[in-house]
Amino acid sequence: MGYKEIELKVPVSLPEPDLEHYLRKKSGLRDFSFQILRKSLDARNKSNIYWQYRIGFQSSELKSGVKPQAETLVPEFRPRDKQVVIAGTGPAGIFAALFLLKSGFRVSLLERGSRVEKRLESVRNFEKTGNLDRANNYAFGEGGAGTFSDGKLTSRTKSISPERNFIFSELIRHGAPEEIHYMTHPHLGTDNLYRITQNLRKELLELGCQILFDHQLTEVEVSSGSIESCDTPTGRIEADYFILATGHSSYDTYRMLIRKGVAFRPKNFAIGFRAEHLQEVINRAQWGCAKLPNVKAAEYRLTSSTPDNTPVYSFCMCPGGKVVPATAYPHTSVVNGMSYYKRDSKWANAAIVAGINLEKMLGKEVSAEEALFWLEKLEASYFDLYSNYTAPATTIQAFLENKAAKNLPESSYPLGLADADFRDLLPAPVISPLQSGLKQFCKKLKAYETGIILGLESKTSSPVQVLRHPDKLFSTYENLFLAGEASGWSGGIISSAADGLRIAKQISG
Ligand SMILES: Cc1cc2nc3c(=O)[nH]c(=O)nc-3n(C[C@H](O)[C@H](O)[C@H](O)COP(=O)(O)OP(=O)(O)OC[C@H]3O[C@@H](n4cnc5c(N)ncnc54)[C@H](O)[C@@H]3O)c2cc1C
Repeated sequence: MGYKEIELKVPVSLPEPDLEHYLRKKSGLRDFSFQILRKSLDARNKSNIYWQYRIGFQSSELKSGVKPQAETLVPEFRPRDKQVVIAGTGPAGIFAALFLLKSGFRVSLLERGSRVEKRLESVRNFEKTGNLDRANNYAFGEGGAGTFSDGKLTSRTKSISPERNFIFSELIRHGAPEEIHYMTHPHLGTDNLYRITQNLRKELLELGCQILFDHQLTEVEVSSGSIESCDTPTGRIEADYFILATGHSSYDTYRMLIRKGVAFRPKNFAIGFRAEHLQEVINRAQWGCAKLPNVKAAEYRLTSSTPDNTPVYSFCMCPGGKVVPATAYPHTSVVNGMSYYKRDSKWANAAIVAGINLEKMLGKEVSAEEALFWLEKLEASYFDLYSNYTAPATTIQAFLENKAAKNLPESSYPLGLADADFRDLLPAPVISPLQSGLKQFCKKLKAYETGIILGLESKTSSPVQVLRHPDKLFSTYENLFLAGEASGWSGGIISSAADGLRIAKQISG
């Protein structure tokens, strides 16, 4: 049995089930098995758009070659008389729990929100009535911040291949489509994420995990230089290790940790707004036509160079999706984006943000607590505008011309838009970079100026970062670990899950 890999251009019109027949013709092999290793859309030439495939063939007709084995993580099970408390059921918390349970630890998983079924009801109710449930919303509740998202599984973090392979295999085992292993831009959609979250919960319970929903970790108790226990609504829990995977919206948890002496520093982050377009506009700009057979919806990722070197870029694009009210706390307002697996709504949205260094912007030293306070105040100012979750908005054209928008077009955002001037809503130093960036995006994507912008977008990453031991990964106390976005060392579903795994691996030795 031999093995070989080949690159192939395949017409977009070819449905994937017909691929085998196509491969038989192209490879000259009669008896073979194959695996898709990579699949990406090449739309650089709009008159010749095709799928670029990398295929691995195994066949007795091949005389040499061996199929390479993907590197992955293998938890080593042995009974260990150690208890781990994990707070947060987002990607970082869930994957840390899975790995530790499979390694033989006892795990208690605390989640401030409820099961994803109840969380979904709260989110739907919020979108209908504007009444926010403070424990169950787009940021909080089982599954974490990415549950009602586009579920993009791309990550710019380098050297996490074993973790990524582990995560993808587990996601597939719990209901994700196989294609996530080979698509260059894999995504799940909120419908898959909802099911996968339920399936992962079932497995964690089968592995003996104690899952406590509606249980916020409110306090950690320090004794002789380590964390001895934590407080929850039903009492104190003692453990050997504490992993806080509480995401970057959990301001109250950050403040509690700072009070307990855990060392944080402010870090660069980004703010801006979400741009929304008709998906057809983006399809035409990227493909030169409104639809392509067997391709869902066009994506984009844009970067710009601004005169003062402020990075301005698109982030977390949701093709065929909708803009959502993503705040975690009453009286603050932020937006984000989500979509279903089919990506078939008529809208496309993406964050357009400018990077900021708060110390440079304010011209003074800033503590981690001040950085949190600064961001929270900005998020509150968006709520205060209308005393509800109406999103301030304008057209891209009007923003670029420093004018008021004449008419706001329809939007997918469920809680209403109101005309606003972002020059009054965002800090002055980011206005001109955002205008400069948007101007460049209008040149790169045809008709980009027909879109609207709505705000606030402030959740691309945490404004603070915990100090960690470089190898052992603990923070301040030898048995305290901050995982995922709460740590400020990851951003996005995959890098946060990978961070949870790295910490679990570190604990299991
Ligand atoms: C609407 C939306 C769309 C997104 N789309 C994408 C995307 O397409 N792709 C992508 O890669 N990323 C996306 N993200 C970002 C992604 O969701 C996060 O990067 C990721 O979820 C971070 O994982 P985490 O486990 O570190 O934290 P989180 O997912 O934030 O999970 C933290 C969990 O901790 C719980 N919690 C908080 N405080 C406490 C406490 N004190 N005690 C107990 N529990 C607590 C919360 O309820 C939550 O469940 C999106 C985010 C949002 C909001």
